[in-house]
Amino acid sequence: MEEIVIIGSGCAGMGAAIYAARAGMSPLVIEGAQPGGLLTTTSDVENFPGFPEGVNGFDLLWKMREQAQKFGARIENAVVEKVDFSGETKKVFCSGEKVFEAKKIVVATGSSPRMTGAKGEAEMYGGKGVSACATCDGAFYRGKDVAVVGGGDSACEEAVFLTRFCSSVKIIHRRGEFRASKIMADRALSNPKIEPVWDSVVDEILPDENGLCRGVAVRNAKTGEKSEIACKAVFVAIGHKPNTDIFKGILEMDDEGYIVPLSGTQVKTNVENVFVAGDCADKTFRQAITASAMGCMAAILASS
Ligand SMILES: Cc1cc2nc3c(=O)[nH]c(=O)nc-3n(C[C@H](O)[C@H](O)[C@H](O)COP(=O)(O)OP(=O)(O)OC[C@H]3O[C@@H](n4cnc5c(N)ncnc54)[C@H](O)[C@@H]3O)c2cc1C
Repeated sequence: MEEIVIIGSGCAGMGAAIYAARAGMSPLVIEGAQPGGLLTTTSDVENFPGFPEGVNGFDLLWKMREQAQKFGARIENAVVEKVDFSGETKKVFCSGEKVFEAKKIVVATGSSPRMTGAKGEAEMYGGKGVSACATCDGAFYRGKDVAVVGGGDSACEEAVFLTRFCSSVKIIHRRGEFRASKIMADRALSNPKIEPVWDSVVDEILPDENGLCRGVAVRNAKTGEKSEIACKAVFVAIGHKPNTDIFKGILEMDDEGYIVPLSGTQVKTNVENVFVAGDCADKTFRQAITASAMGCMAAILASS
């Protein structure tokens, strides 16, 4: 029987693994289909403390991994397919018919940004002009024209945030008005750097000769008219999907599937000895530092 199993190997899982390992729990980390998590998909990380020159996302996660292993964490290459948290012994059923039993669990399965699926989007994602995180990547486009895709609160919020660095921000939305709350929509629409592009869908992200974003090809959803918008980056803000399907009916979740921690605890779930950390429970901050910090909190509580 394991002392603790950590499900997920992103910032939250690794934060938990470092603390649990140093507490002598010899944690088993099940790394999932994306070893290192979301941050490995981005090149430059400039806001993680301790790296004044910035750090490559993959390198940062590999350092966290080495740090956890140095203190005794073990990493299992498997995907969790089912869990049984009903008894005192927690059971974790993985791909390859592996089953692990543990006294404590940390769920750190993250969330996946929803993308438009437009041509060129996947090729330019992560460093070539397509991003799903304005807080993370906005500062790379200082003085440039950029676009945001979406019409909800996140799209408006990201657009307003981007006006701090960028010359102009077009918000491309498939409807004729924002879905966002009135206050967020008003804030976006009253900002002189922001211009909405209504009733429009993105058909293609256009590359320049170096494969970097030079603009987007959009189509008017009502008239079918096609046009191009020049921009150096496209921020897709059409929501995230928490990777929590396997915990449905077991852990308390909100309507969108984010795990809801017990009130006042931040990382305890409704099931005793099952903790949660990172973006699968956090739809507000979604940062490497906050995910790692939640992992730390979960491991400290699990080890006490
Ligand atoms: C393009 C981009 C750029 C970003 N840049 C920055 C930045 O510059 N600075 C910053 O602070 N943040 C940045 N972020 C945000 C940051 O990546 C996330 O906040 C952080 O990765 C969240 O960590 P996490 O551990 O909660 O989840 P993730 O990193 O998403 O990790 C989830 C882990 O769970 C595993 N998993 C999922 N399901 C299962 C399963 N069924 N079984 C086993 N394992 C499973 C996955 O394999 C993965 O290892 C960026 C995000 C994006 C998308």
